[in-house]
Amino acid sequence: MLLPSNHPLYSLLFLFFLHNLPPYTAARPAPEFPWKQLTETTVNNYHHYFYNRFLNSRRGSHVSGLSEIKRYFHHFGYLTFEAHYNISDDIFDAPLESAILHYQSKLGLQVTGKLDFDTLTQVLSPRCGVPDKQPSPTLHATKNYVFFPGKPRWARRIPMTLTYGFSPDNMIRSLSLSDIKEAFKLAFSTWASVIPVNFVEADDYGFADIKIGFYSGDHGDGEPFDGVLGILAHSFSPESGKFHLDAAETWAVDFEVEKSSVAVDLESVAVHEIGHLLGLSHSPVKGAVMYPSLKPREKKVELSVDDIQGVQSLYGSNPNFTFSSLLESDISANRAADLRFESSLWAISMILAASFL
Ligand SMILES: [Zn+2]
Ligand SMILES: [Zn+2]
Repeated sequence: MLLPSNHPLYSLLFLFFLHNLPPYTAARPAPEFPWKQLTETTVNNYHHYFYNRFLNSRRGSHVSGLSEIKRYFHHFGYLTFEAHYNISDDIFDAPLESAILHYQSKLGLQVTGKLDFDTLTQVLSPRCGVPDKQPSPTLHATKNYVFFPGKPRWARRIPMTLTYGFSPDNMIRSLSLSDIKEAFKLAFSTWASVIPVNFVEADDYGFADIKIGFYSGDHGDGEPFDGVLGILAHSFSPESGKFHLDAAETWAVDFEVEKSSVAVDLESVAVHEIGHLLGLSHSPVKGAVMYPSLKPREKKVELSVDDIQGVQSLYGSNPNFTFSSLLESDISANRAADLRFESSLWAISMILAASFL
């Protein structure tokens, strides 16, 4: 794990402040924790800075601050390098280009090797803190869904029951506890409908298999949170059960009620992180809930074919689930259309994933 002071977004924010401070303060040392604490009012300025500085950088470019882009790609598993490599310089070199090529192909972007607009937009998109590429990835040969190294899963007899609990000391006040619990209940039931795993809320948080809490900044696991947007949440592969959400986000359960432009849908993030808790890593399929990013005010709670096939390869199918029943039970024609669209995306992404491998 990276030391907090190495975190890419922390340094990016610092650069943002340097960029906007009078010259005589520019030598001020980097602030200690919490790193990158963007707020609803600073997030737009930060994005402007980011585009202005890095747009269309390509191999051979020398751009002040580029080392922080290198740290970003390193953090999420794309930039790997030899011991003599200098991650602190601002030169757009071959390893960075290679990292960007992998990132673009993995996340379904146009593969240009440059920091083009779509790539920078993706880098700025709020996302899960779990790296996309593990040090020794266990990649399925023909599908998109990806497992953690060693393909860990909850090793209990099927059908199994997993319990979850909410940390009494690490809740947020902006939503009622009943609203929070309802969002998680829906998210767990989404996964339970396709695999023979049942989720129930534990009577005692201390004994729960899955422990859910909201945390700010550095919270002791080496993966600090970063204020508004940026990293939204992270969770750990089986059988850790740790599920952490960034307390600084404007969490929402109803966008009719929560009007903030930086609001993040709690149920969508819960569905994604539960996928990690069950053993899935990030999928390159944009329509999959296991895709690593989620836009502000976006709701994405339906499992795609890719998500379902991935999790069923770990736990088997819920006896009540069939793909055809998934389609038949959709009273909305639109949702069925989405699924077909996802299926074709899945096929397209298989080709991309094959070239990535
Ligand atoms: Zn994730
Ligand atoms: Zn954490």
